[in-house]
Amino acid sequence: MRIGHGYDVHRFAPERKLILGGVEIEHEMGLLGHSDADVLTHALMDAMLGAAALGDIGLHFPDTDEKYKGADSILLLKRVKEIVEEKGYTLGNADITVVAQAPKLRPYIDSMVKNVCDALGCETDRINIKATTEEKLGFTGRKEGISAHAVVLLEKN
Ligand code: MG
Repeated sequence: MRIGHGYDVHRFAPERKLILGGVEIEHEMGLLGHSDADVLTHALMDAMLGAAALGDIGLHFPDTDEKYKGADSILLLKRVKEIVEEKGYTLGNADITVVAQAPKLRPYIDSMVKNVCDALGCETDRINIKATTEEKLGFTGRKEGISAHAVVLLEKN
């Protein structure tokens, strides 16, 4: 078994979609980034790559590459699954925390879990997604952006 950790942050910006776990969320702002800025999925991919000692998403999908402009992060997650499998690992489980003052994410969590599990081809009880606030403290508390943490266990095939 191998453990990995991922962390990511994206800032809010006007006239951007808010995409988390591949779900488009109703909000007056979205997250800024070269791809779709799906901070949850980015943290998860970094945790998977970290567990396999395969670097990070910046290495595999450089943000200087036009190919990844506006990229659907769920498609990148499918690729990360393949990369990790090529090294002989499959996902054991993942636990993901999204830190956001707003919007409320609870109504979207089941759809996020479904998208992630569809991309990874795994049962829904292998993926946990939760959301918290930082009690109006710091950059997430001031609604300047959203951060996400992920921990992953990979199992040797
Ligand atoms: Mg990112």
